[in-house]
Amino acid sequence: MKFIQPKLPFAPDALAPAISARTVEVHYGKHEKAYIDTLNSLIEGTPFADMSLEQIICESDGKLFNNASQAWNHIFYFFQFFPEGCKAPSGKLAEAIDRDFGSFDEFKKKFEEAGTTLFGSGWVWLSADTDGRLFITQGGNAGNPLTENLRPLLTFDVWEHAYYLDYENRRAEYLHNLWEIVDWDIIGMRYE
Ligand code: MN
Repeated sequence: MKFIQPKLPFAPDALAPAISARTVEVHYGKHEKAYIDTLNSLIEGTPFADMSLEQIICESDGKLFNNASQAWNHIFYFFQFFPEGCKAPSGKLAEAIDRDFGSFDEFKKKFEEAGTTLFGSGWVWLSADTDGRLFITQGGNAGNPLTENLRPLLTFDVWEHAYYLDYENRRAEYLHNLWEIVDWDIIGMRYE
């Protein structure tokens, strides 16, 4: 197996009440695991087996792209949370958020709005371009800003499997509660 699912740096119940232990068990333990297992079985014995995950995402399509990108997106998603983490950005990232969105509160509002208005399954992203300018984008299904030459910093999963056990159809409430567990020190490190 080329790609190994990384162990989470927190207990399954550490993200509650924003995300319940049951959702972590199913989302990380079953959905994320299945994407990584399928990715590994698809690349075995092909030229993709010698590529990095980022390379595979940028050079594949169809079923391989879907599973590679979903593997990357889920690892990125779970590794941005830390319940005792920093609740607001600082330094260069805080300055860039104020510059490009007006304020941190305005940014959060726009980000939640992008998540609630994405039709169907997908991801909402905060990314930076090569000049450090920030963008909020929506990606349907397995979409990933790496394919648009952007550097991802933060993502909220808006597939129903990410929130349905805890919030049923209340996607907006799920998105709003995720701010409680995002560790902005991690997002700041991704930016710098
Ligand atoms: Mn998911």
